[in-house]
Amino acid sequence: MQTQIIAHRGFWQTNPPTTENSLQALKNAQILNIYGTEFDVRMSKDGVLLIYHDEYFYNLEISETNFADLEKLKLQNGENLPTLKEYLEKGKEYPSLKLMIELKPIKWKNKENDLVHKAVQWVKKFQLQSQCEFISFSLNICEQIKKEEPDFKVFYLNGELSPLEIKEKRFDGIDYHYSIFLKNPTWISEAKTLGLITNSWTVNNPEIFEELKKQGIDFITTDIPNQLMNK
Ligand code: MG
Repeated sequence: MQTQIIAHRGFWQTNPPTTENSLQALKNAQILNIYGTEFDVRMSKDGVLLIYHDEYFYNLEISETNFADLEKLKLQNGENLPTLKEYLEKGKEYPSLKLMIELKPIKWKNKENDLVHKAVQWVKKFQLQSQCEFISFSLNICEQIKKEEPDFKVFYLNGELSPLEIKEKRFDGIDYHYSIFLKNPTWISEAKTLGLITNSWTVNNPEIFEELKKQGIDFITTDIPNQLMNK
């Protein structure tokens, strides 16, 4: 299989650029006709799931702020801070675009479990099981998703577990920083032998893209999907 492309936080390095993790960035990714688009999910203090990368939105710590206060502020492109509900609703309009849902780690396990439960429920509510895949740096989050829904696709991001260790955890694959694959040049082929899927972030350098392709990587996640998609 040819290496496929996933847009990192949507496709936002457009001309003119838009804001990462915005609804516009999701729409832009769809136009490229690529495999999928990735986005980051956090939970407000009162349990609303939001699309945002950083812990802080302006000077507000998302996990310590109620949604009513967060939604008063706009993204740089003028959009409201999108909720997971809105993102899935929009994503459902583009059934050929996979939605790579990154659940951000939280300091407290019970909050992480709550985040997982809510995200799983939203995906099921919209019947998007086959269009969505989950990624996380938190081992607990990955394990909880599999505990709730063993058939949901889960990929671990943090990089310290070997393909065999990932297989033993019954995850579907690895989505590691490219430096991990360059340091462990047998991991992609080992993963394949074990039936695991491989993805790498954030690949913005065409030479690294070439090297990973040579190693047989299945997917790369990039800020420049428009530039790498035809290479
Ligand atoms: Mg992310």
